[in-house]
Amino acid sequence: MPQTTQIVRGGRLLDAAGHSAAPADILIRGDSILEIGAPGLAAPADAAIVDASDRLLIPGLVNGHTHGNTSFGKGMGDRWTLELLLNAHPLTGAGFSAEDKYLAVKLAACEMALMGCTASIDMFAEFPLPTREGLEATGQAYIDVGLRAMIAPMMATRSFWHAIPGLYEALPDTLQKKVDTIRPGTGDDAIGICRDTLQHWPHDSEQVNLALGPTIPHHCDEPFWHACRDLARDYDTHISTHLAESRLQAVASQKLYGKTLAAFLDDQGILGPKFVAAHAIWLTDDDISLLGDRGASISHNPMSNLRLGSGVAAVQKMRAAGINVAVGTDGCTCADALNMFEATRLACTLTRVHSPNYESWLGSAEALGLATVGGAHALGWGDRIGRLAPGYKADIVMLGLDSTIYWPLNDATNQIVFAENGGSVRDVMVGGRMVVSAGQIVNVDMAKLRADVDRAIERHGPARAAAREIVESLAVYVGPFCAGFAAQDLPINRFVGNA
Ligand SMILES: [Zn+2]
Repeated sequence: MPQTTQIVRGGRLLDAAGHSAAPADILIRGDSILEIGAPGLAAPADAAIVDASDRLLIPGLVNGHTHGNTSFGKGMGDRWTLELLLNAHPLTGAGFSAEDKYLAVKLAACEMALMGCTASIDMFAEFPLPTREGLEATGQAYIDVGLRAMIAPMMATRSFWHAIPGLYEALPDTLQKKVDTIRPGTGDDAIGICRDTLQHWPHDSEQVNLALGPTIPHHCDEPFWHACRDLARDYDTHISTHLAESRLQAVASQKLYGKTLAAFLDDQGILGPKFVAAHAIWLTDDDISLLGDRGASISHNPMSNLRLGSGVAAVQKMRAAGINVAVGTDGCTCADALNMFEATRLACTLTRVHSPNYESWLGSAEALGLATVGGAHALGWGDRIGRLAPGYKADIVMLGLDSTIYWPLNDATNQIVFAENGGSVRDVMVGGRMVVSAGQIVNVDMAKLRADVDRAIERHGPARAAAREIVESLAVYVGPFCAGFAAQDLPINRFVGNA
């Protein structure tokens, strides 16, 4: 942690609620904001000056949901539903070595930093099991770029093809034999690895910590949910999962459990203030009340939800029920850029398509609040990040007012939410350290990273070709089966996702 004193001078500080950006200086001691004041704010003589002239200063954006491991899979697939994306997981991760996991996350972290994001919840995936080495390398990648993260390893006890009732049986024998070889490890092994990794976590948990990521409720058996619940409690950490992301999942839950996925998770003792549900589209009103009562967070990932045709989450109902809502990008295989400005804009504007009652729409200041304060609360760091205020970490994004989208500067909040695409990000500071300066990543040799990624993709060629053949032969059956399955009547009609 830097113990120096810095003074950020010459910038304009966003007052999101006030829709304004008055000139202000920010005094930073070590990794935290000490004082904010009018231009000319007194600073110790030895304070380093950070020139923020022509910059608009905003809190670092917090990505509520991503998958750093997917950054080698960007652009794959076009008309993929969530189920076709899950069917393709052997392809999107084909050929990965231990080093590739680190590289993929590093690439993702660089992209997030360049787009003004300073912290994320990363449901990092390894198959068939998480590994201590992979999780530590993921944490190291975030540290090497300079971002904060919560790593929640994705885990399952059933393969995708076994988790959907009737899907496995609908496959021809030859493909059944193939998917029989693509099974996750046991729940006991996954828990053992996570316990060992939590016990020996080598990183500063103020910057990068470890949580649990049982991937999708019905992909995990009940004993595994209980083990995750107990392990999270033992280490006082979070659980994140993909909750009711697709209509298919809502139908599957009724068939498997006779209740909604949220109710199922509540029965397992999972819902609470340290629970983060990604997507949460196919919820009933009762589910929303339940999540609110339990103090849970959701990460709203609108770009992914649109690309995969999953639906539109009922963000305003969630907020009204007291759910903490964060904004997320999701991973590169479904989002595809890790662009929090885009996600925030969609989070804001998608609340406007259902009703002409404009008073029910999400406002721009509130949308930005979800992407900063909401994300910070989801991470459990609501008292440390998400705001620019004394006592908070110096996680500051400096947008260039030289960008045409700010000519003229009429309403800083509206212009950020409705126009910013990340292209104006000039400097990004995390905990008082610059991670992006003049639009360039500071801590990573990007030319080397690009060459390393190119080499990795070349190495993956044969594994990718083999995986593509299997995935495409499966997709012929999986696509229509899942579309038909998802179209079944739901026994209750209170799902609000596409209301
Ligand atoms: Zn996801």
